[in-house]
Amino acid sequence: MANDKFFKPSTVYWAETHEVTNQPSVLENYNCYEQDIALQQSVQIHGASWAVKDLQRFGAITGSAEVIELGFQANENKPVLHTHDRHGKRIDEVRFHPAYHQLMKIAIEEGIHSSHWRDAKKGAHVARAAKYYLHSQVEIGHCCPITMTSAAIPALKNQPNLFKAWADKIMSAHYDPRNIGDSKKQGLTLGMAMTEKQGGSDVRTNSTRAFAVGNSGAGQAYELVGHKYFVSAPMSDAFLVLAQAEQGISCFLVPRWRPDGSKNPIQIQKLKNKMGNISNASSETELRGALGWMIGDEGRGIAVILDMVSMTRFDCMIGSAAGMRQAVAQITHHCANREAFGKKLNEQPLMQNVLADLIIENEAALALSMRVARALDESSNNEQEKLFVRITTAIGKYWICKRAPEHAYEAMECIGGSGVMEDTIMPRLFRESPINSIWEGSGNVQCLDMLRAIHKTPKSLTAFINELKGASGVNKHFDRAVSELESYFIDQQSIEYRARLIVEKMALAIQASCLIQYGDALIAEAFCNARLAAENTGWVYGTLPTSIDCQAIIKRATPQIR
Ligand SMILES: Cc1cc2nc3c(=O)[nH]c(=O)nc-3n(C[C@H](O)[C@H](O)[C@H](O)COP(=O)(O)OP(=O)(O)OC[C@H]3O[C@@H](n4cnc5c(N)ncnc54)[C@H](O)[C@@H]3O)c2cc1C
Repeated sequence: MANDKFFKPSTVYWAETHEVTNQPSVLENYNCYEQDIALQQSVQIHGASWAVKDLQRFGAITGSAEVIELGFQANENKPVLHTHDRHGKRIDEVRFHPAYHQLMKIAIEEGIHSSHWRDAKKGAHVARAAKYYLHSQVEIGHCCPITMTSAAIPALKNQPNLFKAWADKIMSAHYDPRNIGDSKKQGLTLGMAMTEKQGGSDVRTNSTRAFAVGNSGAGQAYELVGHKYFVSAPMSDAFLVLAQAEQGISCFLVPRWRPDGSKNPIQIQKLKNKMGNISNASSETELRGALGWMIGDEGRGIAVILDMVSMTRFDCMIGSAAGMRQAVAQITHHCANREAFGKKLNEQPLMQNVLADLIIENEAALALSMRVARALDESSNNEQEKLFVRITTAIGKYWICKRAPEHAYEAMECIGGSGVMEDTIMPRLFRESPINSIWEGSGNVQCLDMLRAIHKTPKSLTAFINELKGASGVNKHFDRAVSELESYFIDQQSIEYRARLIVEKMALAIQASCLIQYGDALIAEAFCNARLAAENTGWVYGTLPTSIDCQAIIKRATPQIR
């Protein structure tokens, strides 16, 4: 009989080799906001409770299978550069997959590029940061032009006539990707071009020259000649560009099309072959007499563009924190639904240690980002908050972005072999994870910026310490860490050499402070015990002390999917 079966198989035997068991469902069609307790709490406590309904609506969008799929498509189809048309005329056009445009459209219609400037009420930065946090979990590449468009607004304010002429269209909720002049569009996006081959961090070495067309000075027209080694989102309608004028480095608003309807000679040489940020294009570009208008005073270009860069640095904090949250959502969902050795993965003590550690890191990153968002909201009429933003953005950009790659890698490992596969979001999260640390001022540059802030504005350190003091008396490890901070500043001679260690200590202290003052008590205590206790020696995630209630932490972070 057995032999008969072997030689005369029924179709059932051939069709089904095995039943698929012990595999979690795909994490989709859930509400990313409603399933994120930490985000909800920080929105409430930092003054944006008026935005809750809108965030609930948006959380359903960013968790929908349809929008998640856009993120995959936009990354599977790289942008393509077309330098010339079929008749040999330059067009300098980058074509993107429709999914990229759809993501851009969503972001702009949701106001992620401008709601905080358009309606600058209490909590506006917090509400917008929450939306950015949700949206960049779907796909972070296209968030580069969204961030740059948002960040260009404060820099443009340095030149009131340009601001008046451009701001409405930049802040409008209309996305128009067509390769046509800005006067024919209702909505515009902006990019920036600082970096050149000979220097990215040190933009004082910029060799691009700006020649006055008529009169020179603020608001006047110039023509720019030179190269830019990194220009992301090259289809932006205009760019903030640094170039040498007679009186030194100055900042210019350079449109892609001239007002007379002709193409401004901004020629894209090639697209960068990037390991991450794939959906978005970054280019090498030549400026061959490109028309631009000077923003702010001649020779003050670095100061002007810093108004933009400080905002993109803040978005790097949120973006990296968001990558961590997406990883946490994926792994907590996976480990709740996958068994090994007779128990769910999230019931295995060692996996609980890893999961809880990754969750704590994410919550600390979010807590710090949202505290800075609140300070941005309050800094227009509160000097302390302004000083706090100045120093804490450098610290937060350094630390949150630095913690992201190891977080992403460890999260992949929680999922096991499937975590390496491109049909999950995990490899993409991993490839994106180093980028925020490198662009917009790399790690060392952030540390030096913290020292510069203290040197030029000593009150910024006072504002920072005052913020820490608000959290004292709750956790002994935190109190000791704060009391030790001062000692790191005593030896001024070696301070630059030690800057990374100092920023790390400051970052841990401010994250703990944010969690103690504005976060969940469970997470705050776990963070202090894990990151600030003198006896803590773990070098990788998953080395939490035994005092921590990992199960409660995991439960809090796990999306509840019906
Ligand atoms: C994907 C991507 C997109 C980008 N898009 C844009 C864009 O749209 N526009 C734009 O203008 N730029 C863009 N950049 C460029 C980016 O901002 C620069 O790469 C970055 O600022 C570093 O400059 P660099 O590459 O010239 O490195 P360098 O300046 O040579 O720095 C190399 C290393 O040296 C360190 N370093 C520098 N100075 C010091 C110092 N004094 N002490 C100690 N260490 C130091 C840096 O921290 C860094 O780690 C992009 C970069 C990437 C990766």
